[in-house]
Amino acid sequence: MSKARLIDGKKLAAKLRKTVGTQTLTLKKAYGLVPGLAAVLVGEDPASQIYIRNKETHAREVGMNNFSRRLAKNISEAKLLKIVSELNADPVINGILVQQPLSKKIDAFTVIEKMDPAKDVDGFHSFNLSALFRGSGGLVPCTPKGCMMLLETTISDLNGANAVVLGRSNIVGKPLAQLLLAANTTVTITHSHTCNLPEICRNADILIAAIGQPKLIKGHWIKPGAVVLDVGINRIKTKDGEQTLVGDVDFDEVVEIAGAITPVPGGVGPMTIACLLENTLIACCRQNGVPVPEI
Ligand code: NAD
Repeated sequence: MSKARLIDGKKLAAKLRKTVGTQTLTLKKAYGLVPGLAAVLVGEDPASQIYIRNKETHAREVGMNNFSRRLAKNISEAKLLKIVSELNADPVINGILVQQPLSKKIDAFTVIEKMDPAKDVDGFHSFNLSALFRGSGGLVPCTPKGCMMLLETTISDLNGANAVVLGRSNIVGKPLAQLLLAANTTVTITHSHTCNLPEICRNADILIAAIGQPKLIKGHWIKPGAVVLDVGINRIKTKDGEQTLVGDVDFDEVVEIAGAITPVPGGVGPMTIACLLENTLIACCRQNGVPVPEI
């Protein structure tokens, strides 16, 4: 059997960033507007620092203004909420995100709900989640949005496909299931209490893993020819003691059975950031009452 086709998230993300960059320039020329993104980092979690740096770099590259804030790890919830209020009120800031995870002292839900939903470019505010449920009008969470773009470039017709989502988090699994439903797939959501997981997976035309369990999904779980998206990002040690990144899917096994698969890294990850920039552009247009460009 031939190996699965690689779904190149890096390439698709670069294309999307290029389009966002072009539209950002057009917005500046036509209306004198430059989208502004404020990424807030609390503490010094190494992975979060890398994510924030990537977001800042790409925002600058597409011509957006960067207003990132780095805050001490012992900041109180009250102080963080005050900063979010200030960012809400600042008209040059169109997009706000607060990098998670936050410390145990701070309630992430309270922080998200404090954000102006029009500036919530991660799409986590309950206003945006209810818009997702309704099917229109809000800012769509970035990783699920990126997954749908990857699927749309891989599968010509999603109608009626069996989609299995592994993981039910508020930031990936649940919103992704909504988008898959809106695309007319038949969706099964699985989680850590699901029985017969391999059997359910074997029924999937589309399998999307977002569980944070390194290489859990094996080759014999996969329906031959299925499209597999691996959202998981897990840092593990190799036999030589080196740190490496792997997904939730056992790539070497699954690539032999699936029809198409995303690698880790270079699959879903780059799409998440590109979609964040797209959301920031959309947010800027909506806040200023100018037409949102077709992307
Ligand atoms: P989370 O910890 O909030 O949720 C994990 C989910 O997986 C839970 O719903 C849990 O029930 C389920 N789960 C755990 N073990 C399971 C098992 N053995 N079988 C079935 N389900 C199981 O995680 P999250 O924030 O949704 O992130 C999931 C993974 O995706 C992590 O590795 C994270 O780093 C990665 N992630 C990647 C991106 C990206 O841009 N590529 C974005 C967000 C998250």
